[in-house]
Amino acid sequence: MARSVVGPEIERLIQLLARLPGLGPRSARRAALALLKKKEALMQPLAKAMAEAATAVSVCPVCGNVDTQSPCTICRDEGREQLVLVVVEDVGDLCALERASATRGRYHVLGGVLSPLDGIGPDDLNITSLTGRVREGGVSEVVLAMNATVEGQTTAHYITDQLAGSGVRVTRLAHGVPVGGELDYLDDGTLTAALKARRAV
Ligand SMILES: [Zn+2]
Repeated sequence: MARSVVGPEIERLIQLLARLPGLGPRSARRAALALLKKKEALMQPLAKAMAEAATAVSVCPVCGNVDTQSPCTICRDEGREQLVLVVVEDVGDLCALERASATRGRYHVLGGVLSPLDGIGPDDLNITSLTGRVREGGVSEVVLAMNATVEGQTTAHYITDQLAGSGVRVTRLAHGVPVGGELDYLDDGTLTAALKARRAV
C-alpha cells in the first residue's frame, strides 16, 4: 500500500469524497485539495451547509421524496395535478423529471427496483404505500416512469399486476428515439422499443 503523504484527517476527507457518484480516488483528491485551498470561501460554508441539510432533511411519509419539509414541498403543492401519480425508482429520477418540467402530477418514489440477485424484493420498496395511496382514491392514472433496464421493466410489470382491478389507468413511458437521434447510433434495445411503441401518423 502506498505511504500516505497527508495527515489522517485529509486522508479521511478524500476517502469520503471518493464515495460520491462520479468521483474516483483521483478526482476526490483534487476536490479535497481545492477545499483545503479555499478553506474560508468554500470548505467552511460547505461543511456548514452539509451539517444543516443533514439535520433538516427527512423522507416524505407520503411519497418517499427527500426534503427539508414533511410532507415534502411537492406533496404540499396544491397546484399539482392531483389525479396523476408518477412512479419513479429514486429521488434522482424525480429531479430529472422536474428539471425537464415533464409532468405536473404528484410522485411516488420506490427507493429502488426489484432485483432478486441483489436480494431486493417487493417488501424492500415503497410498493405497499403506493397501492395504499391508489386505494385511498383520488388517483385516476399511475404513470410508471421506470428506467429502460431489465430491473426497471420487471418492477413496472410487478406494479401493474398489483394495481390490476384497482380501476386506475396504468401507463408507461414510451422509450423512443431521442430528439436528434439517428437510428444508426441507437442501441438495439432503444431501437426495438421505439419500433414497438410506434404510432399511426
Ligand atoms: Zn412527498
